[in-house]
Amino acid sequence: MYQGNYLASTLRRASLGRERAVFLTDHQTGRSMSYGDFFANAERMANALVALGVTPGDRVAVQTPKTVAMLELYIGCVLAGAVFLPLNPAYTAAEISYFLDDARPTLFVCDPAKHSSLDPVAASCGVTHILDLSPEETGSLIAARDAQNAGFEAVDRAPLDLAAILYTSGTTGRSKGAMLTHRALASNSLTLRDHWRFTSDDVLIHALPIFHTHGLFVATNITLMAGGALHFMQGFDPQAIIDTMPRATALMGVPTFYTRLLDTPGLADASKGMRLFVSGSAPLLAETHVRWAETTGHGILERYGMTETNMNTSNPYDGERRAGTVGFALPGVELKVCDADGSPLPQGEIGTLEVRGDNVFAGYWQMPEKTAEELREDGFFITGDLGKIDEDGYVHIVGRGKDLIITGGFNVYPKEIESLIDDIPEVLESAVIGVPHADFGEAVIAIVVPQRGLSLDIDKLKTQCSHELAKFKQPKQIILLEELPRNTMGKVQKNALRETYRALFS
Ligand code: AMP
Repeated sequence: MYQGNYLASTLRRASLGRERAVFLTDHQTGRSMSYGDFFANAERMANALVALGVTPGDRVAVQTPKTVAMLELYIGCVLAGAVFLPLNPAYTAAEISYFLDDARPTLFVCDPAKHSSLDPVAASCGVTHILDLSPEETGSLIAARDAQNAGFEAVDRAPLDLAAILYTSGTTGRSKGAMLTHRALASNSLTLRDHWRFTSDDVLIHALPIFHTHGLFVATNITLMAGGALHFMQGFDPQAIIDTMPRATALMGVPTFYTRLLDTPGLADASKGMRLFVSGSAPLLAETHVRWAETTGHGILERYGMTETNMNTSNPYDGERRAGTVGFALPGVELKVCDADGSPLPQGEIGTLEVRGDNVFAGYWQMPEKTAEELREDGFFITGDLGKIDEDGYVHIVGRGKDLIITGGFNVYPKEIESLIDDIPEVLESAVIGVPHADFGEAVIAIVVPQRGLSLDIDKLKTQCSHELAKFKQPKQIILLEELPRNTMGKVQKNALRETYRALFS
């Protein structure tokens, strides 16, 4: 089925002939939806797209709250050969204007609450159609879907045709549209399905957003390709997740999910029957890994990926899931630690991670210079992440290249200092950044969050750092905060911290 459409046929294969099997249970309504019904709705969506004049290669931009209908639209786009372009619901009208102007979609779907304010924005960007979709699954997109019949002959799409554009979070400069091909999405999810042993018996708790690679591609595509089921939640609610665990087998989350779940009663009992906990999108503290194992008996399986590359590495399913590492390159992915010229560094040295494989994107939408800067001619993508490979082959991420601190001419890798501080029992977590300093260029400072209810002695912390770190690595100032600023994917926003403490030494 859907033969000729590379991704759609891969997504459908496992559920063919199992039309009544449950694909998804909506946590909000308790309603279950079968594979047959889900794909019938996706086909209606595809018919609606064609009726609107969406042709293969056209972009369909979507900024709506998380709903099942948004997933139907995603698959509808794949079937119709359109390019799905999900956007973070938190973006303002000014930000949306940038994305629509850049991507020039034929159709834009938004939240009805924002329809009137975004209408002129969309019109000024040449968008032909604007429809809406509410959190309750009402709106003109639903009307357009329901006016159509199921049944759709999937548009032929080759492996290198585009399936989606995902904009990077753009913490440095303009956000870039990563062009993801049918092959990149299909191959990566198939690899992960097998690597993490997903089958039709799995029920995955889906509490991640679906405008991002983690919730949209990793979680959803793997489940479809395994013929398993999703327990679909609109947002992250630790108690609801714990209540659901006895009826589920797997959870995919960002590290914040795991730290918050550890603080929620009932975890130990509820997690007994679970098969797998996966973490990614931001570094998981080694301490969280250890506490999770002590509480639940499960080792969290940490993996590493990014918008441009899908998933690159994973800890093993069998074998040691090593805390503080992201495991090994996935089958079909080549990974090397390089200097600035792309030459591999000796094992154990820190350098920039470069990756190559079918999982890697096709370039940035309409930014050939940016693409040429980051994607080498031989196919290796310069991730911008700094890392090393230990003696057993496990990959360690030590931070983003732009977070590297250069103080008095010396390189300081924040992760090294953060790990040391995080090991202190009274510390929950920390972020080490560089701020402008007249003498040193940059000065190392540490922002530290104490464990809830414990008091932290800054002098003791300073002494500890002075015992274990070379002078140039020791934080010149330690600041206590109640929590670190994070984005929706749980990433600590070091940019925001650098901005806040920019004038500390001036
Ligand atoms: P995004 O494109 O939003 O998915 O962000 C990708 C970035 O998140 C990567 O380049 C890494 O810097 C970071 N990241 C993802 N997974 C991990 C992980 N397991 N450990 C450390 N950093 C991670």
